[in-house]
Amino acid sequence: GAKARGGNLAEVYRRGPDDRDPERLALESALHHAIERDELFLCYQPQVDLASGRIVGAEALMRWRRPGHGVVPPDRFIPIAEQTGRIVPMGAWALETALATTRGWLAGELALAQISVNISAREFLRPDFVRQVETMLHTADVAPQRLTLELTESMLMDDAEGAVRTLAALKALGVRLALDDFGTGYSSLSYLRRFPLDVIKIDRSFVRDIAVDASTAAIVDATIRMAHSLNLDVVAEGVETEAQLAELAARGCDQAQGYLFSAPVPAEDLAALLRSDPPWAVAPARPVPER
Ligand code: C2E
Ligand code: MG
Ligand code: MG
Ligand code: MG
Repeated sequence: GAKARGGNLAEVYRRGPDDRDPERLALESALHHAIERDELFLCYQPQVDLASGRIVGAEALMRWRRPGHGVVPPDRFIPIAEQTGRIVPMGAWALETALATTRGWLAGELALAQISVNISAREFLRPDFVRQVETMLHTADVAPQRLTLELTESMLMDDAEGAVRTLAALKALGVRLALDDFGTGYSSLSYLRRFPLDVIKIDRSFVRDIAVDASTAAIVDATIRMAHSLNLDVVAEGVETEAQLAELAARGCDQAQGYLFSAPVPAEDLAALLRSDPPWAVAPARPVPER
């Protein structure tokens, strides 16, 4: 069953590649052909500006239509692709596809200020990564300022000096840099300020509790204040309820994404959202009392 399979994968992930596990082997070899067999696709989740209620960006999220298994979510296949190194061509495919789709939207006069793409450590650590991003932007004819790369803390911490150099080269290109899943790692914003980031994304686990737990709300409040004092924009992930949105808006959060606005949807559906361009009614900001 699905549950047993999930358990196996978690186990394998801890142990590392295990060629005695037939299920894992099958997944791995099926994944190996996913690009050439045209089984990967991207969904896009709108990012809504809380001041205007308008879509200002979208995050590209990878999906795998595995024959006989339906659509496999990234949590099931990205870790395996990372271990086998397959994530490198898959990540390149995602970046290329997201940029080509963005070019199409812009050509059709659909205003999308930002496209965000998730990057894995295996890609980020390659010496030719920055050159590759530059080439892809050029080929797609998309301005670097429109691209946001989403990175995670662990990829910056393992080799901080190397990361600073790569981030500086990406900044020199003009792309925006976001720190994904903020709050789930061990580092503080004051440590992270040495990295030239533009955006932090508050992890869904904080957003989930913000309207019901005062200490979570206080943490989010402090995070937004500190991020703003460091000139970082703040995007909240996983906003599902009006109450969560109101708490975030009251604290000056810049943008939000989540099921409340839209789940990640195929490119055509995001285009339809952009075309109808409904300003979302974002609850009026109720100022949080100073403490
Ligand atoms: P992430 O980058 O933190 O993406 C946010 C995840 O939260 C997505 O899961 C999204 O579908 C989900 N989400 C969005 N709004 C809500 C909400 O309101 N409630 C809930 N419960 N969930 C929400 P998804 O698409 O399953 O992706 C999971 C993770 O897989 C991503 O987390 C990212 O780390 C990774 N991933 C996805 N696509 C790519 C890719 O192209 N390349 C790489 N390297 N990683 C990817
Ligand atoms: Mg992300
Ligand atoms: Mg995230
Ligand atoms: Mg995540």
